Amino acid sequence: MTNLKLAALNGDKQRRTVIAVGHVKIGMDFVVIAGPCSVESEEQTIRTAQKVKAAGANMLRGGAFKPRTSPYDFQGLGLKGLKILEKAKKETGLPVVTEVTDPRDVSWVCEYADVLQIGTRNMQNFSLLKEVGKVEKPVLLKRGMYSTLKEWLNCAEYILAEGNPNVILCERGIRTFETYTRNTLDLSIVPSVKEISHLPIIVDPSHGTGRLSIIEPMSLAAMAAGADGIIIEVHYNPSEAMCDKDQAMPPEMFASLMRRLQALRIHMNDVNGIH
Ligand code: PEP
Ligand code: MN
Repeated sequence: MTNLKLAALNGDKQRRTVIAVGHVKIGMDFVVIAGPCSVESEEQTIRTAQKVKAAGANMLRGGAFKPRTSPYDFQGLGLKGLKILEKAKKETGLPVVTEVTDPRDVSWVCEYADVLQIGTRNMQNFSLLKEVGKVEKPVLLKRGMYSTLKEWLNCAEYILAEGNPNVILCERGIRTFETYTRNTLDLSIVPSVKEISHLPIIVDPSHGTGRLSIIEPMSLAAMAAGADGIIIEVHYNPSEAMCDKDQAMPPEMFASLMRRLQALRIHMNDVNGIH
């Protein structure tokens, strides 16, 4: 792929970037990131964090800055939300993934985040990409909803070129003519990324489908396709979710998903002769 210098495999097909976050090695272990769409309150975040931790999640997600389609929708709790995430991390030991939307916030959000998320709407926000490229925290770069693989990897290149080697790609669905699902989850991008890049790639079936009933099969399919992990929206009481209610997974369903992922992993290891 033209113009890629740092994101490309450059002939070494075995090369894989592994990013350590706490005990988790992204790009080596299959990582499960789970938590609410947005941080709504201390109770909501900590209760959800405890549930996902008990089910075996490796990291906690939660938005304190929410890039919403409408300016009148809940925009997130900002600093207060980050402090809640800090508390949830202390309670559970789970590292925190949270979105940053403004270049001016990057340095201080780093004090609270273990991984900085760049959302789909900001994938080509080049000043934001350059800013997260200057810090040491790993960056979870979501695919733009209208973006090609080439455009996406070039955005990763912006971050790498500034000196931050820790980029995790995240497929979260693209816009197509289909309306039954919220987006069309492009799982073919997973082996495609592996063919040309050493960067780890995870899948977001929550935003990718927007439908609770389809998240589990797409999570299993993501693992089967070779993804390095998944990110799932979980709410301890989905009917109360202030954001993305229709895709908020209740904790019992998440625990069941984790059991099935584990069973699939054992099966895949058997097939691949890994013990
Ligand atoms: C999110 O993960 O909270 C989010 C807003 O996702 P996306 O940027 O993929 O819409
Ligand atoms: Mn969401």
